[in-house]
Amino acid sequence: MHITELEIDNFKSFSKKTKIPFLEGFTVISGPNGSGKSNIIDSILFVLALSTARNLRAEKLTDLINLNSGKNTAEVALEFSDGTKIRRRIKRTGNGYYSYNYLNDRVCKQSDIVDHLSKHGIKPHGYNVVMQGDVTRIMEMSDFERRKIIDEIAGVAEFDSKKEQALRELDIVRERIEREELLLLELQKRHMNSNANGSMHLSTRNGRRN
Ligand code: ATP
Ligand code: MG
Repeated sequence: MHITELEIDNFKSFSKKTKIPFLEGFTVISGPNGSGKSNIIDSILFVLALSTARNLRAEKLTDLINLNSGKNTAEVALEFSDGTKIRRRIKRTGNGYYSYNYLNDRVCKQSDIVDHLSKHGIKPHGYNVVMQGDVTRIMEMSDFERRKIIDEIAGVAEFDSKKEQALRELDIVRERIEREELLLLELQKRHMNSNANGSMHLSTRNGRRN
């Protein structure tokens, strides 16, 4: 699954509605300093609700609305190769803002977007978006830390954590079995004792009868 089209409307430096197609393979965006290249990646982080992990180089969310157009809304829409459409709009209000999220043109909660994307391996703390600073950080980290990132991207980390979880559950079940076995042993002992008492009683009675 890959992004096929990005549409930016009144977001940061993009005052006019701008469509950016992403063809298969690499897409490179070039331009002079300050022309809005990074604003494009900011718009992707914004629409995919990945902005909690990476900041959008804005003090507050309303700073994302274009300053020059005089409009009070900013909107970003993304389309994926499987036809999924994700859209987000913010609207400035008297004392703050409203944020609207849409999944396939239906209003939804931001958490629905996060859930949907995480099913496809796109996570707020994942490495789907690699920023300039990240490259230097990855180069400078220890082999062990780098290995963790590779495991995360390859999806191995997910299985590792599932395995750990399963082993933890197995330990709990083992403990429960041990406890139940002890209880069973105790009950068996009591049962045998009461049987023994019963037969003694029976033999005395029998003794009397004889
Ligand atoms: P560089 O090559 O230096 O990294 P860039 O192409 O990545 O530059 P951006 O950082 O994307 O450039 O764009 C910066 C520009 O966006 C600045 O000129 C800034 O004024 C403008 N900008 C940011 N927010 C807004 C906004 N809300 N309204 C209008 N313009 C904005
Ligand atoms: Mg930049």
